[in-house]
Amino acid sequence: MKRETYRLVRSRRKTLAICVDADGNVIVRAPLRMPQNQIEAFVAEKSGWVERTVEKQRAIASGRKRIRLTPEQVTLAKEEARKDLTRRCRRFESIMGVRCGGIKINGAKSLWGSCNSKGIIHFTYRLLFAPEPLRDYVVVHELAHLVEMNHSECFWKQVERVMPDYRQRRLALKQFQQRAVIMEGTESYEDRERIL
Ligand SMILES: [Zn+2]
Repeated sequence: MKRETYRLVRSRRKTLAICVDADGNVIVRAPLRMPQNQIEAFVAEKSGWVERTVEKQRAIASGRKRIRLTPEQVTLAKEEARKDLTRRCRRFESIMGVRCGGIKINGAKSLWGSCNSKGIIHFTYRLLFAPEPLRDYVVVHELAHLVEMNHSECFWKQVERVMPDYRQRRLALKQFQQRAVIMEGTESYEDRERIL
């Protein structure tokens, strides 16, 4: 573990101690005159425990949710996502005066939705785990692409017209992406972290 990853607090104590606070910060308490290399050796010896504890505390602190799905649950989630997102699309299509060329559900991990040049919208079933106002935001975002295929000022005007608070929802969706980790079967948490 690198020196800068922990806070060293020296005091009139006799022994070394290491702890992880509720936010995942590492604090090492050491006697006033103990040599730095002795402290480093102690920290290195405890590094496995420290890393595990830091990870756990950070996960708790950020309110991160880990959801692990079996293949059957993935199939069900895809079906449910199709119904839910189709219903939302239909509602916003009539508000926005557009019609998409079709709705497809995939298992994309890092993209909530996309819209191709044929007007076909893809949504990831993982969106089902996001709160409803955020699902609506993704739907409006993709439907707005039927009018503007880019992310120009005109595009965002389209979004804002039907969803004046889209900025807050967009931010909330980013936060949700960091917090909620949806995994399939044997997919490991670490794999997922790298994708996010
Ligand atoms: Zn877009």
